[in-house]
Amino acid sequence: MDVKPHIKKAIFLVWLLIVPAGLWFTYQTYPPDISDHWIEIAAFLLLTSVVASLPIVINEVFIFLIQWVALATFLRFGLFIEIIFAQVAVVVLMVKLRILRKGEFFRLPLNLYMFFLVSFLSGITYYLLGGQHRPNFTTDTSSLWFAVLYIVLYFAFNQIILSFHIYYIYKSKEPFFGKELFVETLTTIITFPIGFVLYILFKQVGLLAILFVGIPFVSLSTIFTHYYSSQKINEYLQKAAEIGHQLVERLYVNDVRDLFIQKLSEMMPVDYAYIFETNDNDELTLMYRFEAGKAMPNDMISMNKNEGISGMVWEKRKAFLFTAKKDWEQYSNAQIPEDAESILGVPIIRSNNLIGVLLLASKRKRAYEKSQLMIIDILCSHFAVAIENARNYEQTKMQSEHCSLTKLFNYRYFENMLTQEFEKLTRFERKMLSLIILDIDHFKTVNDTYGHQSGNEILYELASRLSKLVGDRGTVARYGGEEFVVLLPDVPKEEAYQLAEQIRQMISNWPFTLQQSLDLDKTQQKVMITASIGVATAPEDSEDYLALIRHADRALYVGAKRAGRNRVAEYVK
Ligand code: GH3
Ligand code: MG
Ligand code: MG
Repeated sequence: MDVKPHIKKAIFLVWLLIVPAGLWFTYQTYPPDISDHWIEIAAFLLLTSVVASLPIVINEVFIFLIQWVALATFLRFGLFIEIIFAQVAVVVLMVKLRILRKGEFFRLPLNLYMFFLVSFLSGITYYLLGGQHRPNFTTDTSSLWFAVLYIVLYFAFNQIILSFHIYYIYKSKEPFFGKELFVETLTTIITFPIGFVLYILFKQVGLLAILFVGIPFVSLSTIFTHYYSSQKINEYLQKAAEIGHQLVERLYVNDVRDLFIQKLSEMMPVDYAYIFETNDNDELTLMYRFEAGKAMPNDMISMNKNEGISGMVWEKRKAFLFTAKKDWEQYSNAQIPEDAESILGVPIIRSNNLIGVLLLASKRKRAYEKSQLMIIDILCSHFAVAIENARNYEQTKMQSEHCSLTKLFNYRYFENMLTQEFEKLTRFERKMLSLIILDIDHFKTVNDTYGHQSGNEILYELASRLSKLVGDRGTVARYGGEEFVVLLPDVPKEEAYQLAEQIRQMISNWPFTLQQSLDLDKTQQKVMITASIGVATAPEDSEDYLALIRHADRALYVGAKRAGRNRVAEYVK
């Protein structure tokens, strides 16, 4: 929620116009009742400050339980003192919540004049309607109804002024009758009788009343806050488990990583996120960089142990939490953006091995809490498992689809792809599909002459020549022993034939280099080889994928091999 500078200025101005003059007016019209001993007034002020410093927090909404104290103060000491105390309460609350950050100072005058208006309007209306100062409930029962009226007025003015400001200053579209109103109403109804009790008791027992009422109230709200934060932690834990499940369900490393960052940003303020992993050289390398809501290029340099904040997390194998820039500046190696304030660095540990470091940063001060550290720690271990699983999956998939010698796709992958391409053909997503099959001539002799290992080297070199030549026009795969295929989607037969001819020349015109020949003198030997090639195209030559292979194969054996080898032949019906 960004508030425009001119609105911030206007807020200061409104405060300056309303509050001093309003106070002066109140002082003149309803002079404060200071008939009590100053200690008693001070005790009320103390109670106000203590209650103000114990707001309860529910779902990020702060609930300020000050109305009941305001009621007792107002009835006992009059409007002027109630206004002053409410102003003090606002300052205490703001300091306690530490929301007066840079650029947010406007919130103080904003809340001060809002509270002033609430106090002032409800007090004045109370008096104008005939409400008494320091009423006696036992002799005058109607005064009880006036006190109830005061609470209603206080509550109503508060809601009206608050929603007006939320609408105009924050441009928030939240519904008026939302959860917040419900919680406010409920807490007002629950707490305002305490105000009565305090007022009545104070009349009878004086200062002791503050203790009688204050101690149970403070204890209860402290208990509630603790209960709520443990509830919150439970919720977090549950969420962490859920995220853990979702993470391990992802099969690919990038998906795991994206989900992890997404979930973290949903749980806490994340302006910057970095995931580092350790490499074999004992360095931290950047695996992922997320800034201002999107992934960024991984152009950060690697870091050694104890270098930068992540290096420190790695070295110490423990999480670090910084609430402001001045606390971490000395450790940083200048890779963290200038405007970051809060930083959370957590080691990513898998079976006792540190495999990486997670670094989260926020532009806000005190954006992260200690309680979140534990949750992130759990999430990081889920992440570590999920990443390892995904890596294994990717590796297994890669191995199952590739030939280990040539690094080309293998027959299994090729067959899959061929059937998929044929499906596209039947759905008219493809116009045609050409297939080139290649078989090295007299490869058995090559093996017999130079050794099986040299034969392998030739296969390896041929594979890389093929990949380079074909590029992204099609897919090259190893079909079998010394046979290769090139699948060319949407390439007409003539073009495929031309490419096959280029392939043939690329093989026959340039010798293949052998690194490990059978010769003892270790000189690099060159070998000339040739290949025979068959070409077929669907749908013109064949209706199904097996026929396409068969026809290309037939062209290869009948048209090329039998015709004398080192040539290209296309299928003819
Ligand atoms: P042709 O011109 O008729 O194709 O003769 P050829 O010797 O190439 O005969 P064929 O295609 O039937 O034989 C394939 C030979 O390729 C048999 C085998 O020794 C060799 N070969 C198959 N796979 C590999 C391999 O992975 N490495 C090596 N070094 N040789 C292989
Ligand atoms: Mg063969
Ligand atoms: Mg052969």
